[in-house]
Amino acid sequence: MKLSDTPITQHQFANIDFYLKRDDQLHPQFSGNKARKFMALLEQDYPQIDTLIGYGSAQANSLYSMAALAEIKGWQLEFYVDRIPTWLSDCPIGNYRGALALGAHVIPTAQSDLHPNDYIAQIRQPDERCLVVPEGGRCSLAEYGVQQLALEILDWTQQQANKQWVVALPSGTGTTALFLHKTLAKHGIEVLTCACVGGKDYLTEQFHQLGETSHPTILELESKHHFGKLYPRDYEVWQQLQAETEVTFDLLYDPMMWQCLLNWSPHHSDKTLIYIHQGGLLGNESMLPRYKRKYGESNDRQLNDR
Ligand SMILES: *Cc1c(COP(=O)(O)O)cnc(C)c1O
Repeated sequence: MKLSDTPITQHQFANIDFYLKRDDQLHPQFSGNKARKFMALLEQDYPQIDTLIGYGSAQANSLYSMAALAEIKGWQLEFYVDRIPTWLSDCPIGNYRGALALGAHVIPTAQSDLHPNDYIAQIRQPDERCLVVPEGGRCSLAEYGVQQLALEILDWTQQQANKQWVVALPSGTGTTALFLHKTLAKHGIEVLTCACVGGKDYLTEQFHQLGETSHPTILELESKHHFGKLYPRDYEVWQQLQAETEVTFDLLYDPMMWQCLLNWSPHHSDKTLIYIHQGGLLGNESMLPRYKRKYGESNDRQLNDR
């Protein structure tokens, strides 16, 4: 099975003309950057494997993507989490709900006093039929699929009129941005990103840990932005994006990147932006009710009224 060549569409947001790489459309379940990061596992044959093992948050996009991968490959997914919040196990929603529907086993480890990673090593003790993937796909395994994404973008730009292309995408672990940069920098295409988790120093440290010394450009906001926290400005930008592009973006990562780009764009009118839609839309199923509870159903404030 091979997945590739997602469309690139043209849009405008807050007077910024941009192109959008629709990686959210890679596959109905196995999409976005987690699919790119796990693509090597999809394409290779693993005759001895019957169990995929991962760990992370019970609401993570990677949980759902790994469940989709396991379903396609005919593997059982075991996903270890610190704990499953009571409200979530009482009423499954978002990535957790989606993963359960695909047959995933989500296993909490907090009662053993072990971190999921140690629980896997000490209690689960994976054997030769198991394939263990690090949290969020933060590993060199990811390079293969992300390079494929870079090559698709490169191929497309070479069919367009000559422009100064810039590729933008928000980072968690930074794995996707880093491996995109690794291929695109050689062709003079700058990669812009922002640190949605842990700030610029943390992200730079992640880049180093992946063994690379040349890094994407990290844009920053003036004020600190905490992962998973609700910000009225994030919600406003997300709604405005949806209204102007008719595309649904992710609520966890995309609003921060777009705020960085709104600041960046006026000083870089010579550049043409390609934004990567990295999927994660099932996660909105749990984020959106939180926003609606806090800020109400509709929000009429316009971006220009800031
Ligand atoms: C995981 C994820 C990211 C972050 O990807 P990294 O490679 O960890 O930087 C960004 N956006 C979405 C929608 C994601 O699911």
